[in-house]
Amino acid sequence: MINVTKTYLPDKEKLKSYIDKIYENGWITNRGFLLRELEVKLADFLEVEHLILVANGTLALQVAYKALELTGDIITTPFSFAATSGSIIWEGLNPVFSDIDSETWCLNPENIEKAITKNTSAIVPVHVFGNACDVESIHAIADKHNLKVVYDAAHAFGVNYKGQSLLNYGDISTLSFHATKLFHTIEGGAIITKNAKLAEKVRKLINFGITGQERIEGFGINAKMNEFEAAMGLCVLDDIETILKKRQKIWDYYQQELQVLDIQFQKRNLDASNNYSYFPVLFESEAQMKKVQKALNAKDIYPRRYFYPSLDTLDYGGKEQVMSVSWGVASRILCLPIYPDLKNLEQKKIISVIKKVFR
Ligand SMILES: *Cc1c(COP(=O)(O)O)cnc(C)c1O
Repeated sequence: MINVTKTYLPDKEKLKSYIDKIYENGWITNRGFLLRELEVKLADFLEVEHLILVANGTLALQVAYKALELTGDIITTPFSFAATSGSIIWEGLNPVFSDIDSETWCLNPENIEKAITKNTSAIVPVHVFGNACDVESIHAIADKHNLKVVYDAAHAFGVNYKGQSLLNYGDISTLSFHATKLFHTIEGGAIITKNAKLAEKVRKLINFGITGQERIEGFGINAKMNEFEAAMGLCVLDDIETILKKRQKIWDYYQQELQVLDIQFQKRNLDASNNYSYFPVLFESEAQMKKVQKALNAKDIYPRRYFYPSLDTLDYGGKEQVMSVSWGVASRILCLPIYPDLKNLEQKKIISVIKKVFR
């Protein structure tokens, strides 16, 4: 069976040696040694100023909204994973969907501006499939209307934009380190900001607001990462260059083999690097996509309909506007299997099954 992704498992002996360390010092959560080591190493690798590890990517978003004291309406994309809009609703905020660009599949800045009202407090764009948003236009719009920007950068681990980390854009960028992601800590995530005060506030918020032995400031939540997860992260980070290289090879091969077919690929932001996190393909029609899906499933190969359905169609209310671009993309897209362990023979099989459907 070949799935869309497969969790990267590092060397077991190395992980064991970290677990031995955890046993030696008996500290298994609450800003342990390994978590602190991972925070420093990740901030260094990603070239970001403040990086706070948290329990998962969804809580990273929720804490970001709280830290920025968002209110009312939040403009976001309908073409993403359910956590992007779900986290907004969970925080008592109102997601206002704005349609995506038909080629980049990221938020279209023109539509963002049209969706702004006096109730809007922030924009939550997604660098979907690691493709950098039009960060300059988004920044200009946010400045003009005095809005905060939280990038859901769950797919954008390690992506650079014009010579610096893409994660440096926005008031906050969030990452997910779920087992299915490019870099993972089993479950986990991170909050990234250039603002030291905001980073301080986030650290308070993720630990119930506790700031000292006998001191609690305001209120918070429990969004802490534990030492076992940090140990996994340290092991995976050691192998990150190999992971990226293997993914690139698979990504390039798909591109080379499939470009002869009449299918659409994501238009990538040329000022940004590629982290090869997904390989999405867009078919001409839903029927054709289903044909390909069925043919692959018959060979025990399971691509995923990322992202389907368009989030504005969920039971969130407020469906004044038709997100026609998002609906169109969501109904015709498939993400093909891509992970370091995928063998070239397996990839060849996937490609030949797809080509047969087109014959
Ligand atoms: C994975 C993902 C999340 C959620 O992250 P978790 O760590 O699973 O909570 C949020 N947004 C996007 C776009 C994602 O792909």
